[in-house]
Amino acid sequence: MKKILFIASEAAPLVKTGGLGDVVSSLPSTLKKLGHDVRLVLPAYRIILADLQPLTMVATIDMGLEYSIRILQGTMPDSSVPVWLIDSPTHFDRDGGPYIDINGDDWPDNAERFALFSLVAERIALNQAKLNWQPDIVNCNDWQTGLVPALLVAHTPRPATVFTIHNLAYQGIYSHDTFKFLQQRLQLPERLWSVESMEFHGMFSFMKGGLIHADILNTVSPTYAEEICTTEFGYGLDGLLTHRREQLFGILNGADYTTWNPATDPYLHSNFDIDSIEKKSANKKVLQNYFKLPIRADIPMLGMVGRLVEQKGCDLVLAILDELLNKHDIQFVVLGSGEKKFESAFSQVAKNFSEKMAVQIGFSEDLAHHIEGGCDMFIMPSRFEPCGLNQLYSLRYGTVPIVRQTGGLADTVIDDNVDPAQANGFSFYDQTPVALLNTIERALLVFKDKTRWTTLVQQGMNADYSWNHSAQQYLDIYNKALGIVNK
Ligand code: ADP
Repeated sequence: MKKILFIASEAAPLVKTGGLGDVVSSLPSTLKKLGHDVRLVLPAYRIILADLQPLTMVATIDMGLEYSIRILQGTMPDSSVPVWLIDSPTHFDRDGGPYIDINGDDWPDNAERFALFSLVAERIALNQAKLNWQPDIVNCNDWQTGLVPALLVAHTPRPATVFTIHNLAYQGIYSHDTFKFLQQRLQLPERLWSVESMEFHGMFSFMKGGLIHADILNTVSPTYAEEICTTEFGYGLDGLLTHRREQLFGILNGADYTTWNPATDPYLHSNFDIDSIEKKSANKKVLQNYFKLPIRADIPMLGMVGRLVEQKGCDLVLAILDELLNKHDIQFVVLGSGEKKFESAFSQVAKNFSEKMAVQIGFSEDLAHHIEGGCDMFIMPSRFEPCGLNQLYSLRYGTVPIVRQTGGLADTVIDDNVDPAQANGFSFYDQTPVALLNTIERALLVFKDKTRWTTLVQQGMNADYSWNHSAQQYLDIYNKALGIVNK
């Protein structure tokens, strides 16, 4: 039995902006079921304070601010994993998202917010927060926690550290002035300002703290682990990652099949499984009704859910939408939010093709489940994709994924042309609109052949991308990290 501390900036269902939130909820839950003592540290955002009850104040820590930081304890809904919330009201008790304000701009004090969060987490990791619990392993996640391994490395003894990269594109890079400010306000150690530590081309990089100082690194798919060691995907950190290749692992995220299971999904109008795929059509009807599209069982319905940003290949989709909708008898529904230019471009196409296309801008767990439950195909042409969860949900929901071959998408979607006996979707490599259009058109052709289509759907639904296998791989890298720290 291991004592494992997860430190992260989001965890579903309390607060989630993307796949990170899903992973930080389901991986600890799986490890707990395997008999490990797992705890989680999160910022006490306003939304969590409002939703999570009961909360008990278990410690206060003096971090040199005008007030003491409180640590509040609760338990994660569903999994009962204990969670410690770092309650610093000026930093976290505000309206808006975890990283951006209500206008969509980054919080101007993000560096201070996550530096403070990491400093308190360091105390917890060293059992200096009067919580009477000493983890063996600390698993940090993404740039918001990159400072933690950099802080812990100066201590002996200390827990082993694993740093998980969910997306290398977001690095938390700040100016030297910001570093100076953090030094003065939060007593960040001077040693961090060094190219051997968190200095990155004259800037202060939170991500680099994790990449340099954690005992073991991992990312969320084997292919993305390879890709981030190249200049194309490495954002200037590929040299460092290549240098650490022996300590860098790729472990696929699992899908949480307790939440994403079409047989039990409470959001769905009609539950179904591999033996009752025909029941899926009732969900399609509900979706068509919701979006005020013509109610037709026979028409191929394409769906897309996700952040509307460059990464997700929004520009590729927008480049082909007019032609696709003009040429084919299809329906296309989109749920997402992100860059304003993409939000308005998708909305405009929906206006122009109101009989065929519908768009909802915003975040809706409910509608995301309905789209997975009701559509025939799921479009995910990401330019890069560390793992991707939506294609995994799509597979389980019999919604055939059409993806670009990158990162976790390449590791999980097998194209119909490549290996029909195992195929579960369609994929393409070239980052061009025509490659996407051709691939969707290939899928539309196969859709007409009901026997072939059903085979594809069944092969997708049969695949097991649960956490069971991946959680075991996390335990393996925890052992490796322990081996390094105990050497
Ligand atoms: P990323 O982490 O890059 O955003 P993933 O595919 O790994 O992409 O995970 C995205 C998660 O967030 C999925 O669970 C997806 O359903 C959810 N999601 C993204 N955008 C929305 C939205 N607008 N409404 C509901 N869920 C969303």
